[in-house]
Amino acid sequence: MDFYDAAETWSRDRIAATQLTRLRSLVEHSRKCAFYRERLDAAGVTPESIRTLDDVRRIPFTTKDDLRSQYPDGLLCVPRRDIVRMHCSSGTTGTPVAICHTQNDVNTWADLMARCLYMVGVRPDDVFQNMSGYGLFTGGLGIHFGAERLGCMTIPAGPGNSRRQIKLVKDFRTTVAHILPSYALILAEHMREMGENPADLPLRIAVVGAEPYTEAFRRRIEDLFAMKAYNSYGLSEMNGPGVAFECPEQHGLHIWEDAFLAEIIDPATGEPVPDGEVGELVMTNLCREGMPILRYRTRDLTRFLPGECACGRRHRRMDRILGRADDMFIIKGVNVYPMQIEKVIMGFPEVGQNYLILLENDGLGDVMRVQVEVRDEYFVEDMRILHNLQNTIARRLRDEILVTPRVELVQSSSLPCNEGGKAVRVQDLRATK
Ligand code: AMP
Ligand code: ZN
Repeated sequence: MDFYDAAETWSRDRIAATQLTRLRSLVEHSRKCAFYRERLDAAGVTPESIRTLDDVRRIPFTTKDDLRSQYPDGLLCVPRRDIVRMHCSSGTTGTPVAICHTQNDVNTWADLMARCLYMVGVRPDDVFQNMSGYGLFTGGLGIHFGAERLGCMTIPAGPGNSRRQIKLVKDFRTTVAHILPSYALILAEHMREMGENPADLPLRIAVVGAEPYTEAFRRRIEDLFAMKAYNSYGLSEMNGPGVAFECPEQHGLHIWEDAFLAEIIDPATGEPVPDGEVGELVMTNLCREGMPILRYRTRDLTRFLPGECACGRRHRRMDRILGRADDMFIIKGVNVYPMQIEKVIMGFPEVGQNYLILLENDGLGDVMRVQVEVRDEYFVEDMRILHNLQNTIARRLRDEILVTPRVELVQSSSLPCNEGGKAVRVQDLRATK
């Protein structure tokens, strides 16, 4: 195995032994803030009482509301002058949370990110273009410092402005890009409008993460640009990107367990689910000095993939994010995950990059509307063809989710994004009616 740093090749025993030592030190260190000291005292958890990794379950969970309640610096475990950087979560689920890092923290983070990139074949002579938003979002500086650490020429292109993105890719012969899944298709569409083929660009690898997408969506990105696309998972509370990343096998994301302790629990009971079953991911950062977080409830649903990865790395793999513990919705008594809907509509070549699920109440009962962007070249088609497409999508959706939605075809780029540029997938307007 060609690897970036030694921890990448550790055996299971070595990983587990390191996790235990680091968990004990973490319990000691996190007592430096009143919030964790009181929580740990109440639960009777001391460093000495952590004997095996299972003892992590005696530590109380930390929720997003806890983090908000300690805003801005209630969770600091080092003197304030030791903090060199702060970031915020993108507000995927509400008002932001601030996370503060020491110099060691940002160095460790850059190394973890560089490890991800090296794993999929990025090397110092690559040119890396980061199309993520900078500022408080971690996808900007977090990825940027990782690519620089690896030695790539790193272009902080920022989001949007497709014309400039393409010019930079061509002028600097960009070989690796970090791009949001929804934006990758917008970029490809833009090129096609200009009469160019995205596959002709020098791009060979894309880092694609920050929001959920399906395997079908990945294949589409790979085919359009003739490049490999690797799933990148992270969250601000655990630094940001660099938490879990796909290897060249593209079968699950390796969680860097030397730095993070991952659990998967039943969101209703808080108890661990058996390996291979879907539950809520709970994460503890084992190495952070500035603001450690213990047993964070991510609300992201996934599962550990059983068995060993063919690539030889022994860091456990998780499946792509299968949904949110809080985005599943119930319509006419049926549980629906937005990912099920995406899987169906992305199977249609006429469909563009975005869709929006609207849940409403028309006075007689719940109604689900699915607005689907249609690629420009199809939008000018004869009305009858569009009508047929609309009906076929509705029928396929019914087969998948057992509810018949109203499908509406809309023009490309007409659906909303949030301030971070992430696509908005579900709007539940039922509560306000
Ligand atoms: P933020 O708070 O801005 O760091 O956003 C973190 C959240 O973005 C995670 O908790 C996930 O819900 C989502 N996210 C990040 N990476 C991925 C990914 N590769 N697939 C699906 N969702 C992701
Ligand atoms: Zn692997």
